[in-house]
Amino acid sequence: MRDKEYVRVAQYESEESDIEKENEKPEESTKRTVKKWLYKQTFQSADDAREWIKSEGIWAKFRTNDTYAGCREDYRCNKVPKRGPQCACAIHLIYNADNFQVTAFITDAEHNHDELLEGRQIILVSLKNKYRAN
Ligand SMILES: [Zn+2]
Repeated sequence: MRDKEYVRVAQYESEESDIEKENEKPEESTKRTVKKWLYKQTFQSADDAREWIKSEGIWAKFRTNDTYAGCREDYRCNKVPKRGPQCACAIHLIYNADNFQVTAFITDAEHNHDELLEGRQIILVSLKNKYRAN
């Protein structure tokens, strides 16, 4: 991981200074909502992490990604249906590539699934149109 980061930095430094400024705001190119992740806790094994997820009873895995830090699993709050607006609260796990530990992160946002479910009927109609293109 460190080697790759170093190479990337070195490349930027070898170019002119206006490139460096662009490098300072990496998140702005994406239109997606940027979640703020807070450290939750560290598990000593993948089994411990899965047990915890299960015991919470509200998380549904929806995505797995490989990152430099390790495999990342994203979970959404399952109090709302998979299709449609998602609860603002979510978590993800990083399966650390360097050891067997698993680190959990949670959004700093509170659960808002109750509000979402109340407005669901109205929202579903507009979503039907929105997702038809996909
Ligand atoms: Zn929720």
